[in-house]
Formats: sequence, C-alpha cells, structure tokens
Amino acid sequence: MNPEYELALRETGRIGTGKKYFIKIFGCQMNENDSEILAGILESLDYQPAARIEEADLIVINTCAVRAKPEQKVAALLGKLQDLKREKKDLLIAVGGCMTQQEEVANYLQRRFHHVDLIFGTHQLHRFPALLKQAAESRKTVVDLGEEENREGLPIRRASKFKAWLPVIYGCNNFCSYCVVPFVRGRERSRPFREIMAEAEQLAREGFLEITLLGQNVNSYGHDLQEGRDFADLLNHIDRVEGLKRIRFLTSHPKDLSPRLIRAVAEGEHICEHFHLPVQSGSNRILEMMNRRYTRERYLELVQAIRESIPGVSITTDIIVGFPGETEADFLQTLDLVEQARFDAAFTFNYSPRRGTRAALLEDDVPQQEKSRRLERLMELQNRISRETNEALVGQVVEVLVEGASKANPEMSTGRTRNNKLVHFPRGGEKEGEMLSIKITQGRTWDLFGKRA
Ligand code: SAH
Ligand code: SF4
Repeated sequence: MNPEYELALRETGRIGTGKKYFIKIFGCQMNENDSEILAGILESLDYQPAARIEEADLIVINTCAVRAKPEQKVAALLGKLQDLKREKKDLLIAVGGCMTQQEEVANYLQRRFHHVDLIFGTHQLHRFPALLKQAAESRKTVVDLGEEENREGLPIRRASKFKAWLPVIYGCNNFCSYCVVPFVRGRERSRPFREIMAEAEQLAREGFLEITLLGQNVNSYGHDLQEGRDFADLLNHIDRVEGLKRIRFLTSHPKDLSPRLIRAVAEGEHICEHFHLPVQSGSNRILEMMNRRYTRERYLELVQAIRESIPGVSITTDIIVGFPGETEADFLQTLDLVEQARFDAAFTFNYSPRRGTRAALLEDDVPQQEKSRRLERLMELQNRISRETNEALVGQVVEVLVEGASKANPEMSTGRTRNNKLVHFPRGGEKEGEMLSIKITQGRTWDLFGKRA
C-alpha cells in the first residue's frame, strides 16, 4: 500500500458507504488504467459500482484532450448532467484527466458548469479521497491540478479478470508539434524496473494471462533511470514471469524502435507479434513540420526489418490528415506509404489544432471538407488492404484467447489472435480467458471468422 494514500484514506473514512459511483472514460488505454485506479480508490472508500449513470451518487468523468471531438463530448455530457443534478441534490460530479489538466480549460469548466463539484488533473490520483471529501463538504467547485505525483501502491479494480494494463512509463518528451500530451501528462517518468516486475508477478499470481505494457512511447523506457535497462530488457524479463501467456505493448515511436526490441519480440515466447507504430504522415515535409524525427524511407525500412524478423507480425498505425500546409501531393505520399507498408489496420484522424502546441501557431488551412475527403480516401484504401490481409489468413490455424460472447451474435464467441485480430467462432462451452486453436474460415476488414481446429 501507498503510505501517503493510506493516511488520506484514514482521514477520509468510508464516505462511500451505501453510495454508488459511475466512471465515464474518454480517450486512450492510459485513461482506462487511471480509471481502474479511481474505481479501486472509490471501492476502498466503500462506494459500489452503479450499472447506469442515472443510478450513481458520484459521477467521475475521465477526459481526453488529444482532439476537439472528445472535448466536445465531455461538454455535451456535462450539459446533460445539469438536469440530473437538479433532480438529485446530493449527486457529486467530478471531472479529471487530460482536458482538465489544462488550467484554462479547468477555469472555463468551472465558470460554465456550476454543477461540477470537483476538477482534478492527471497527477492527483493519490489525493482523490481527500479531494472528494472536500468537494462533498464545500458548496464551491474544488479544483486541484497539482503536479506532485505518487502512483505506486494505489488500489485498483481492473475491468477484466484475465487482461491487465501495466504502465511502464508516464508522460512524453517528444513534443510532436500537433500534440497536447506532453503538456497534460508531463515529462517522461519511467517506473523503476523492480516495481514493474513486482506488479507483473502479482498479476500472474492473481491469474491474469495477458498484460499490455503502456506508455506514450514505450521505446524510451529506462533512459531517465540509472538502472542500465531498456525496454527490450524489460520485455525479456516479463516474458519469463511464470503464468503470463501474452505480453503486449503500446505505443512504439518509430524514431526509437531498436533492433534489440525487434529481436526481443522475435525471440520472446509470450511477447505478441504486433507493433502499433504510428506513422502520422507519408510526406517528409509534413513529418518534419510535425517534429517526428524520421523520414518515410526510414519508416518503411523499419516496417521491412520487422516483417523480415517476425513471421506473421501485424503492424498497425495512426495517421493524421489535413495537417497545416498539407497539399494534395503530400497526401498522395501518405497514400503511397500506406500502399507500401500494408498495415493490418490504421486509426485515421482529421488534424485538430490543440491550444499551446507549436502547430496551433500555424494556420489550420486545409478546409474541413477537404480534410474529410482525404480521410475518406485514406480509409477506403486502408479498408481494402485490411480486408486483403485478413483474407490471406483463411486456412491458417491460430491461437485465440477467448474474450466472451460476440457482441453482434450471441451464438458466437469472440477472441483475439496473438497479433491482435478479432476472431468470431461458434460457441461451444469455452470460457473467458481460455486458449483455443481456431482455423480461420473467412477474413473481413475488421475481423475474422473461424471454427475450432
Ligand atoms: N503517444 C502516441 C499517441 C498519442 S495520441 C504516439 O506517439 O503515437 C494518439 C493519436 O492521436 C496520435 O498517434 C495521432 O495520430 C492522433 N493525434 C494526436 N494529436 C492530434 C491532433 N492534434 N489532431 C489529430 N490527431 C491527433
Ligand atoms: Fe504526442 Fe508525439 Fe508524444 Fe505521441 S510521441 S504522445 S504523438 S508528442
């Protein structure tokens, strides 16, 4: 246990007895992990989870600031909650995460939404009980965006029984010119090697089968510690933790992807054959303006090196269209790179200017309509490639970790392959967390179908 947290807990007491909480999560896996910690904290205060937001006595919104869209969704949700708060006077509403870590946004929310009781940032998880108590006792909105952080040993309530997130490095030093993350998550902080190993071993003892190592850029793990270990070392050690069946990691920055890491994935017994390697653009001119610090040629070399060393590997990516100054010629370079790299899947986004970033000083000059047209052309190309890549798997027998009933069809079960593809197959008494051999019978753009081999 975290001593500072324990002290806070003692002072706060069990303020959640008889009460229910609901956490609404926006954004990335790091936010999902933070939300699991918040849930753990709330349950240690004796709060119980609510099945629906309307039933909650406490609503926590964990926000995302990476693009305008998730921010607009948060504002819309807060607008709706105004009515709920009117009906339910004792309802507490807390808003935290990347959006509120920005002071001007926190100030705006405080002015605009008087029914918010607590605004906190990305660093204050360990103080959450004290902040909540303060908010419950105060008539004014409590705001705390302090940056001192103490994340080790906090309680956690994980969403899955067999899959777990395991953060290895917080923050980011890269300052890609479009990105708000370094401003809201701070500079890079690697977790000490032994703490990560202890958590991995604990997870294995608790029966978790799959862990995903998290960081904005896992490849820079360790450079800020005096431990002489890098991310490849970490993977090699975690691979030897008894009981863990699958080890995944997100995200890899192409500029730091080392041959040692490729080797670790190639040789590791439990390390899954999947890289999420965001390229962002296929134009060298735009990559430079984005401050990505690699060229399209270098990126394609990496893709080739990965594919040569790791049979069956899947590579996914993120791409932004309509960055300031992006011409049709730049965009064609992106399409060409996508054609050459043959990604298994791509997450594609319209450029969205973010306050405080370097790119926000440039004119956002690609018209919205043109951004959307480029996005559509890009998605059309990638969808074709995804479908072809998945169709090529027909006939293969793959290892699938069962995740549960299929969302679209209750007669089917769904699981994932080692390289992170979704597979549906006829239900046959299997349980969540079981490993099966499945023969692929059909490949589609987003998923695969199969039957027991
Ligand atoms: N650390 C990860 C990604 C963090 S944000 C990385 O370096 O890849 C996730 C994705 O959101 C990014 O890869 C990028 O494609 C997209 N993104 C970030 N800022 C954006 C912006 N201002 N507009 C549009 N997309 C953005
Ligand atoms: Fe943002 Fe770039 Fe850091 Fe990723 S590496 S979080 S895109 S600044």
